[in-house]
Amino acid sequence: MIASVFGELRLRPAAAFSLAVLACVAAQAASAADCPGHPDAIGTSRTIVVDPRQYPIIGTMQYGKTLPLEDHEVVLTFDDGPLPKYSDQILDILAAHCAKATFFLVGRQANDNPEGVRKVRDAGHTVATHSQNHPTGMDRLPLDRSRQEIEQGIASVTAALADGTAPAPFLRIPGLRTNDGIEKFAASKGLQIWSADFPADDWRNVSAARVYELAIKRLEAKGKGILLLHDIQPRTVTALPRILHELKARGYRIVHVVPATPERPATPTDPQQWRLHPASEMVAISRWPKIPRFAFASTAALPAPALSDLDWRNADLRARAQRRARSVPLPLITLWPRQMTLPPNRMLAALPIPAASIFRIPESSRVTMLARGPTAPTLRATEVSAKLAGQPRRHRGAAAVRPAASMAQPPEEANGTAPKPAAPARKNGRSVHVAGLKKR
Ligand SMILES: [Zn+2]
Repeated sequence: MIASVFGELRLRPAAAFSLAVLACVAAQAASAADCPGHPDAIGTSRTIVVDPRQYPIIGTMQYGKTLPLEDHEVVLTFDDGPLPKYSDQILDILAAHCAKATFFLVGRQANDNPEGVRKVRDAGHTVATHSQNHPTGMDRLPLDRSRQEIEQGIASVTAALADGTAPAPFLRIPGLRTNDGIEKFAASKGLQIWSADFPADDWRNVSAARVYELAIKRLEAKGKGILLLHDIQPRTVTALPRILHELKARGYRIVHVVPATPERPATPTDPQQWRLHPASEMVAISRWPKIPRFAFASTAALPAPALSDLDWRNADLRARAQRRARSVPLPLITLWPRQMTLPPNRMLAALPIPAASIFRIPESSRVTMLARGPTAPTLRATEVSAKLAGQPRRHRGAAAVRPAASMAQPPEEANGTAPKPAAPARKNGRSVHVAGLKKR
């Protein structure tokens, strides 16, 4: 049926185009201003029509592509319903905001509450599917079982709609646990697999306040995207009004997504608009670590880092990163040396002080290092090296400089035979106390 739908699309382009223009105009016109009796409603700013065959997998939690949203545009999605006790409240809240969403319904739930499926449709939301029985590890099931889950889910929701129409060819895999076989099968059926751009952890045992907080925080981190929620959770019912209110206050706009049909061709988009944005490390999901991005100006010239530069508590970051779902590029090997010889215990006292080698300038370069400040004298690099290597000091704190510095000192300096300070620095009778960055 879906195949024939897309076949007809090519046969009647003129009619389809004029209808599309009408649909776009109508969608643009819909806004909070058109939500009678609810002046504070966020409304639905526009509707986009997508062709699942063009982009069969979307959602930056797993894939490199997502919906072609503008900045500050949000698509609301609700999984696992219908469950009248909570789904009805979710529908009421959305109605009060004139906000349209996409519901990924479970076939078994649809069998139990067919009226709930029709309520979603009659309220103007997009009805999509989420398998028949919501298996938790669909990626580990034999492909035949997965196919059965998907097809039965669609059949159950179709039966519940009871008007001869089928649900939208949008599919969300339970727990997002998909695999290549499932993705290929879905694509062959003209289904679009929806991951998400960020969840709000509303299926976990967290408070409604936390759901609200995560939804807003993760949306702010990405600036736009598909929000994954569940309409069978009481905490979501509690959090949703506040989420919608805050979205409006922060200038976000709700976008409704519907599938292309012969009468309703896909909204024209540029492939670039479907590309992952922003970078993948901004993907927000609680079980994935956020990997900081480091900028290295000249990695080749850097000496070994001091112990103080390493956060040993994060030593397992790389291992955790490897557990991330596929398709999300990550810097698996950091630029820091992976193995490093720890200095002897007596050197640990030097922790607060960066290794002197970091500031060291190769002797051959003959560069003069300037310490700038109100009364800063000029100091030659060799003088710094000499002090770091153990020249007599007047300040107690200076002792802390010695150990870390020895890690990368050339032999002559480490042996206490460093070159003497240059003449100009000696002449003015002042020197810089490097350890404390004090001047005298
Ligand atoms: Zn689910």
